[in-house]
Amino acid sequence: MTYLQKIIDDVKQKNPNEPEFHQAIEEILTSIEPVLKSNPQIVKAKVVERLVEPERQIMFRVPWVDASGELQINRGFRVQLNSAIGPYKGGLRFHPSVNLSVVKFLAFEQTFKNALTGLSIGGAKGGSDFNPKGKSDLEIMSFCQSFMTELYRHIGQHIDIPAGDLGVGEREIGYLYGQYKRISNSFEAGTLTGKGLSYGGSLARKEATGFGLLYFVNEMLKNHGHSIVGKKVVISGSGNVALYSCKKAIELGATVIAMSDSNGYVYDKNGIDFDTIHRIKEIERKRISEYVNFYPEAEYVENKRIWDLQCDIALPCAMQNDIDLKTAETLISNGCIAVGEGANMPTTNEAINLLISKNILLAPAKAANAGGVATSALEMAQNSSRMSWTFEKVDNILKDIMKNIYDESSKAANEYGQPGNYVMGANIAGFTKVANAMIAFGA
Ligand code: GLU
Repeated sequence: MTYLQKIIDDVKQKNPNEPEFHQAIEEILTSIEPVLKSNPQIVKAKVVERLVEPERQIMFRVPWVDASGELQINRGFRVQLNSAIGPYKGGLRFHPSVNLSVVKFLAFEQTFKNALTGLSIGGAKGGSDFNPKGKSDLEIMSFCQSFMTELYRHIGQHIDIPAGDLGVGEREIGYLYGQYKRISNSFEAGTLTGKGLSYGGSLARKEATGFGLLYFVNEMLKNHGHSIVGKKVVISGSGNVALYSCKKAIELGATVIAMSDSNGYVYDKNGIDFDTIHRIKEIERKRISEYVNFYPEAEYVENKRIWDLQCDIALPCAMQNDIDLKTAETLISNGCIAVGEGANMPTTNEAINLLISKNILLAPAKAANAGGVATSALEMAQNSSRMSWTFEKVDNILKDIMKNIYDESSKAANEYGQPGNYVMGANIAGFTKVANAMIAFGA
């Protein structure tokens, strides 16, 4: 058995019933083998063995009172996975699917994603199995306040800086930050990112993950002789990442033909109108089916997979494991040329292998969706200097960061003999940065 396979097996044995965490570990460890061969000091310093054991894992009870006056109990998590290159950093996810395995996989991915940004941020993730769907504003506030009443002791602007993720947007960050400020009796804006503009938020943070995804995908297409202009794009999801991916895809000249929510998808062969979908999802917080009321020629489809639609570019921006082997086969036979991962780990390992073997361009999440967390670090920089930068300034830095991530991933893939394999390139580039810092610090 190889050295890395033994580590994977040990992780599975030590962390039973954590399939998402196993999947994330397997995905990264299988691509770093050549790095270990040429860098024996990584093996000697037991970097991989250390990385698969999170530095700290926090689980806590979150009691809150619902609208009917009944007490509800949820479970809260924060996994502080690695702080080798900076304070822990990563979002909070509120979704019924959240458990320790999901938070650990997200924190593991985040560690390498954050390293790829070139900014000084370590890796963490947190959240709760709380379901925000259908909850009133007051219920959301009550939950967020209780969640922060425990979390506050574990975070801080130089310790751990949470942000949003699925189910956690500006409204939730506002309630969380309000409670943090009240308990800590100090205005440490750099403790949470994704804040509202009037209390330390950054322009372009909201757009950053989606815009960054398109900057990466566009760069990748250009480098392989394709143009994004006129390409048909399908986006799964209609949350923050999906919405701003849609906006930038349209701006760059592509046609977004479909988007989805958890109930179904809308298909508009003339191209989805961003302002309409944005109003329905972000402002009015309604279901995506509303779209056909404004564009009767569009279709709303329930109980069918969005990936059965023919597209040139697939942007999974919803949940993990959205694209499995069968979906990947469908995409290939429908002539799809590129997949850009807006969500975290939206493609199974089998599907990744198939797509790469068929030369489909695959922009992996930890590189392609790093624009959000990178802009969070820019928000922290503004908070430290008590300055606010213009939208253009933030957006220009974001563009440079995404180009740099593309170049580094591409360079690493070339260096290890697999040009165009950005999955391997991003894994190697991110891992090398974290490994070097861990070796420098000693055990
Ligand atoms: N949740 C986002 C991510 O997956 C953003 C995290 C952050 O801004 O800290 O990268």
